[in-house]
Amino acid sequence: MTEGKTILLADDSRLVRTVIGRALEGRGYRVLLAEDGLAAVEQAWARLPDLVLLDVDMPRMNGYQVARLLRSEARTADIPVVILSSREAAGDIFWGLEAGADAYVTKSAGELVLLSTVARLLQERGRSRRAGPAPMTARPEESLDVLARLNQLLDQKLFEATVLNQIGELAAELRDYRRAAERAGQLLARVLDYQVCGLLFLQAEPVEGLMIARGQVAVTEQAVRERLLTPLAAEILADLPPPAALPLTVVRIEGSVDADEPQLWRELALGDEPDLLGSFCVLGRAPAPQRGDNREWLRTLALHLFTALDNARLYARLRETAITDGLTGVFNRRYFADQFARLCQRCAPERRPLSVILLDVDHFKRLNDTLGHQAGDAALRELGSVLREALRPNDFAARYGGEEFAVVLLDTDEGQAVQLAERLRRTLRERWARAGLWHLTASAGVATAPTHGPHEPETLLALADRALYAAKARGRDRTVSARDASPTATEQ
Ligand code: GH3
Ligand code: MG
Ligand code: MG
Repeated sequence: MTEGKTILLADDSRLVRTVIGRALEGRGYRVLLAEDGLAAVEQAWARLPDLVLLDVDMPRMNGYQVARLLRSEARTADIPVVILSSREAAGDIFWGLEAGADAYVTKSAGELVLLSTVARLLQERGRSRRAGPAPMTARPEESLDVLARLNQLLDQKLFEATVLNQIGELAAELRDYRRAAERAGQLLARVLDYQVCGLLFLQAEPVEGLMIARGQVAVTEQAVRERLLTPLAAEILADLPPPAALPLTVVRIEGSVDADEPQLWRELALGDEPDLLGSFCVLGRAPAPQRGDNREWLRTLALHLFTALDNARLYARLRETAITDGLTGVFNRRYFADQFARLCQRCAPERRPLSVILLDVDHFKRLNDTLGHQAGDAALRELGSVLREALRPNDFAARYGGEEFAVVLLDTDEGQAVQLAERLRRTLRERWARAGLWHLTASAGVATAPTHGPHEPETLLALADRALYAAKARGRDRTVSARDASPTATEQ
């Protein structure tokens, strides 16, 4: 069984070489010896032993580096490596296995443990070899400079670790999906000459994509959608919407790639079937033998980008769900309360004008009773979209109660707020009429701080509510300001 097997033993201690060497020979192995790491790599490359036994602390090159180097070279990549060291700390063992060793045996574990580990690895290798392709034969010696190769490898590893580490730091941008996507795009631009890249999140409900474009590239969203679907199997595609219906978030970042250079699409599926995570596509400069163009590296890069952005996306969606009203898409009441209180606090010191509109559908109960609840819901959805479209970035709208909505307007005085309320009501009437909901109207009450009262959420809401009540009492389908609703409201 052990006959003819050659074991390379690398250790800078003559005593260890002698003792372990003898023990191995006693089991019938042929033993090659190396006194340091560099010699170990040279011997391994030249003689292709069946197994390599490595000490960690050796002159010129340590055992971790030797293991890494052997793993990186095709013809030594399959040779079992055992690290035999007096270092017993968890970090040492982690790093040894991380470097590519198949086993890490501490010197204190004793000879028997070492011998049985060696026998097991040789046996396993024998099995996988019989099952796998024919054993590699030694190729004629190339001119290999071990140290140059090691430096190159370590530099590449450092480069990769640095990039991946930076992608990991994107987690700090979790609060804003688009911002995280921009950052990811910028990061990717530093290591890859690309015009457009895309990610498909297959585990999302519903499935959605992301497109990051550099500058004003001429690539269409549709092209990215199609590329993202390309690497997927037919069974998966069968469950997906057609490309044109795939939701796609588009983020543009600064920069450009010379369009005269030949560009090439590359796409990859991410994760393992059947639990595919998604896919990645990139359009960029055709690969030259340079950093970042290696396919395995591209896959690693894509997976890290995917993980960071999938988290950001999930977080954003969860947050969205927690603060928005499902039916109308405007904020929910809890979020409204928080934000409104915060805005009041922010505006109070300088007495910045802050207005609130309470908007309530007229005779909504009647609509429900005559046309049904569905029609009522449709009217509310319409209302939600009107509010979302009409507001400036600093304003916000929330569903305050069943068919009652609040709109908060920053730096807006009473006159402007009443005007906006009127415009909203007019638009609503038009949109409802277009949807077949004839004669449906809404009433509004407006209150402004500091004009009608102090910057206090409860006070302002009470004032707006009283104004709304007055609008209803005076026949509905109108806007009333707190000034006209309450005799006690005075100019401050
Ligand atoms: P007013 O003009 O005085 O405001 O009369 P109204 O009928 O609009 O007011 P009321 O408060 O009497 O009735 C509101 C109705 O809105 C009662 C409730 O069933 C309905 N409603 C609340 N939420 C929803 C919803 O999400 N969907 C539907 N379809 N109806 C809802
Ligand atoms: Mg109503
Ligand atoms: Mg009501």
